[in-house]
Amino acid sequence: MSTLVFLEHHGDELLKGSLGVLAKAATLGGGDVAGVVVGSGVRTLADGAGKFGAAKVYVADDAQLEAPLPQPRVDVIARLVRDTGIDTILFGNSVLTADVAAGLAARLDAGINWDLVDLVQEDGKLVGKRPALQDSVYVDVGWTSEPRIALFRSGSFDPNETGGSAEVEDVAVELEDFSSAARMVDQAHEESEGPSIEDAPVIVAGGRGLGGPENFTLVEELAKALGGAVGATRAVVDAGWYPYATQVGQTGKTVAPKLYIACGISGAIQHKVGMQSSGVIVAINKDTNAPIFEFSDLGVVGDVHEVVPKLTELVKQRKSS
Ligand SMILES: Cc1cc2nc3c(=O)[nH]c(=O)nc-3n(C[C@H](O)[C@H](O)[C@H](O)COP(=O)(O)OP(=O)(O)OC[C@H]3O[C@@H](n4cnc5c(N)ncnc54)[C@H](O)[C@@H]3O)c2cc1C
Repeated sequence: MSTLVFLEHHGDELLKGSLGVLAKAATLGGGDVAGVVVGSGVRTLADGAGKFGAAKVYVADDAQLEAPLPQPRVDVIARLVRDTGIDTILFGNSVLTADVAAGLAARLDAGINWDLVDLVQEDGKLVGKRPALQDSVYVDVGWTSEPRIALFRSGSFDPNETGGSAEVEDVAVELEDFSSAARMVDQAHEESEGPSIEDAPVIVAGGRGLGGPENFTLVEELAKALGGAVGATRAVVDAGWYPYATQVGQTGKTVAPKLYIACGISGAIQHKVGMQSSGVIVAINKDTNAPIFEFSDLGVVGDVHEVVPKLTELVKQRKSS
């Protein structure tokens, strides 16, 4: 098996999601694992990938690849796969990689499995694990031909460092005419403070139990004190209390922080599937029978308006002492 992992970057950092996929690929054994970095001024990023299990990192560094557009990336990876005979191409899911993987599948006439949360070797075959039926069961999925392509849900794997180093190889960049037909007109970054919800080690999430958008300051203050990010349920996002980018769950983001504090959240299955892999789950809810207590490590039965400010105060005191 020869595996290639697409290493997505933002600015001068490789994304945690793709490094997690790389680390997972390195544990599968049965062949060398390579990464590919595509962009402009990205050569220095390649060195860092060795620590996460890449034996080799291919680098396509060209000014034409500056904008995060999918088609030029499809050109680069398709050529690389054809030249090297790589049989497995893996992606951590994102807006960009969903397009790149789909374009690559069409270009290489390759089978693609998406929304996977795990990949294993069974009887010499690669088997993907894909949640189905509102994430209540896992379906085994496979490929009938090579190359095979897989996209993994964000947060599926930890980017564990194994300490190796990678050989870095430059690849030629030759783009198809049609790949330059699209150009990026503008790129805007959301203004936000603190860590992003995908990367935060701590998430404090708020639900309808907060009572109104103005009470989100309670979770924001606790998140700030803990150095974490703020999450939200769909109910409050739909009500316009908080931005969609913070929604956790089936139709939002899948997160796996070390600590997840749910404030005034009932624990509906659609929310649970987005945060159940968190290390420690703490729930604050005034209803003893709230479903969230069934999958929490610690539960506080109480009013968020009383409990959360006290908790924030205690965290601040502990930090200053
Ligand atoms: C197809 C589909 C996809 C969905 N996708 C998502 C998704 O991605 N993410 C998501 O979150 N939901 C999703 N939902 C919605 C989901 O089913 C729930 O409706 C939603 O998660 C409920 O949000 P909530 O917990 O904030 O509100 P509620 O269910 O209304 O719960 C509020 C909780 O707050 C408690 N409470 C009230 N007042 C207080 C107080 N003062 N102090 C403490 N506790 C208090 C209550 O006891 C209650 O448990 C989806 C639904 C569908 C059908």
